[in-house]
Amino acid sequence: MKALPEGLAALLWPRRCPLCDRVLAQDTVSGCLCPDCLPEARRLFHDPPRLPGTEHEFYAVSGAASAFYYSDAVRHAILRCKEHGHPWYARELADLVAVRVFGAQAAACPAGRPAYMAPGTLLPYTLIVPVPPRRKGTGGMPRLLAGRLSRILGIPMACPLYTTREMKPQKGLDLSARLKNTKDAYACRPGTDLSGARVLLVDDIITTGATVSACALALLQGGAVSVFAVSVAAKEDLPPDKRLPEKRRVQENQSK
Ligand SMILES: [Zn+2]
Repeated sequence: MKALPEGLAALLWPRRCPLCDRVLAQDTVSGCLCPDCLPEARRLFHDPPRLPGTEHEFYAVSGAASAFYYSDAVRHAILRCKEHGHPWYARELADLVAVRVFGAQAAACPAGRPAYMAPGTLLPYTLIVPVPPRRKGTGGMPRLLAGRLSRILGIPMACPLYTTREMKPQKGLDLSARLKNTKDAYACRPGTDLSGARVLLVDDIITTGATVSACALALLQGGAVSVFAVSVAAKEDLPPDKRLPEKRRVQENQSK
């Protein structure tokens, strides 16, 4: 089946604000947020996007960046996308990554696509690779994000990674358990040749960095020369100026 033109698809399936689920009107911000959610999105921006090595245990990656802190409305948006059956939010979230992390020009209206001015030329990456699902039938979000970023940035996507064994969910594990859980858990498919590739590795959340690091190691073993990781959000302690005032926090917790 041929893909529908984006305009027609937008008419049939109106885009929604990933933070609050409201249908996006023409007053949308950056083509993917409703105006009411902009202050909350701004509060959760990871500024600058590059992740500090002090907060994560990276190895094998040359660096990592995220558009947001994994907290409050951004956390809900990601969970809606990956666990509650609303995968289409991956598009808006990837657009926000393209704008926040790579400086793409935001779309002017819902269903538009951010424009990257010099596809492939300014960015030091030659290939976009998503983190593979941990178990069959789960974890399609990195691939959706990677596919969208691939179109925006003009860099081809490939899916050379697979998981070599069943892993426990990383959620709830401490750092050493996470590192152990992911060690040798990823590999490149036999016959993969990534010689000379400079890879942009895409995941939804970066917590300790154990998953992206294990994936990066497998990509380097497959011939890649460098791997940089990017995610929608990073799990770090919110800086004091980004925390909610105590009163609002209590109210928000009660309304959950
Ligand atoms: Zn909203």
